[in-house]
Amino acid sequence: MKAKPDSTKTGQIHLIKSTKHWFTQKFSRSYTLYGITFGLFFPILATSIDLYINDLSFTMENIIQLQLMNPAHWLVDMIPLIFAVSYYFIGVRSDELNSERKLVLKRTKELEEAYRKLKKLDRHKDNFLSNVSHELRTPLTSIKSYVQMLDKGILGKINGEQKEGLDIILHSTNHLIELINDLLDSSRYEAGKAKLNFEESDVEEVLGDVIKEFTPTLKDIGGDINLTMEDNIGSVVLDQIKILQLIRNIINNSIKYRSESDLKIDINVSRDEQYLKIQLRDNGIGISEENRKHLFDKFYQVDQSLTKKVEGTGLGLSIVLQIIKAHKGKIEVNSKLGVYTEFNLFISTSLKGV
Ligand code: ADP
Repeated sequence: MKAKPDSTKTGQIHLIKSTKHWFTQKFSRSYTLYGITFGLFFPILATSIDLYINDLSFTMENIIQLQLMNPAHWLVDMIPLIFAVSYYFIGVRSDELNSERKLVLKRTKELEEAYRKLKKLDRHKDNFLSNVSHELRTPLTSIKSYVQMLDKGILGKINGEQKEGLDIILHSTNHLIELINDLLDSSRYEAGKAKLNFEESDVEEVLGDVIKEFTPTLKDIGGDINLTMEDNIGSVVLDQIKILQLIRNIINNSIKYRSESDLKIDINVSRDEQYLKIQLRDNGIGISEENRKHLFDKFYQVDQSLTKKVEGTGLGLSIVLQIIKAHKGKIEVNSKLGVYTEFNLFISTSLKGV
């Protein structure tokens, strides 16, 4: 198959060619002519002044005579040449700059076009994911409810082995539903279609609800969660459901990526004029500086080949970031590999409720 020419290389070749044949190409350039024309003015002026001072008329004979008498004229006569050479180099440089400028403009256009195409593809992908997720969620919900009924013995007696099998189906179904919900959420945020319900919320109540939710799981794995709140927190306008989802994602990660030692999660809440700050810190496996750079990218997962494998989609933190953005806030992550991970969530306190 014939290889397509690489457009970057063709651009470079064009530049090399243009400098390689510079002598033949550029010498005839009008820049040299400008130089001579402009430079001629000086010797003509000098000769005319000299003729005038010596009371001589403007004839070829007198001019030659003056030239022979006064050697300074030779120096002045050099001026057109100096101008011609200088203009020549200005010409070469400006031609080079011009062709470089044209090349940069061409590449910029190509990049803009490629970016537009990528954006369009990205929109198609989001629509596709959103449609497929919708189609998958409906049958999955009915699968889940029937499996739950079977599991509870509502549709007839089942034995221990059957219950074990049904529990596995239920676990996988729940995982699949979570994944689909994450995909749907993510594409809604990307498309700017996520609907948020901002309302005045008691921060301690919201956080207390999540802590209650996780208490049984933490008891099971021998973990501990502590909430410390400054006195001035009070209430803030936020979307409670989304903030709960966000905190859930982060705590779930603390559980998933815990180390061998007992898990400890500390939540510290403070507030200033601009932000409500929620700090969540765990003593888990930590995240390296390199991996922290991509943490909020969609589908990004740290390579866990050296540690234990855990279930995940790589969507959790990208959704966390979207929720924070929707609350006009920001996130900071600090971590030390093998020691701790700390998420600092800043939520704007200037949002208006409905
Ligand atoms: P996942 O579904 O893989 O958990 P996330 O977007 O929630 O996706 O997280 C992205 C990656 O960040 C995870 O794969 C994990 O490696 C890393 N990570 C997130 N939270 C923590 C944490 N508390 N401790 C260590 N690693 C974490």
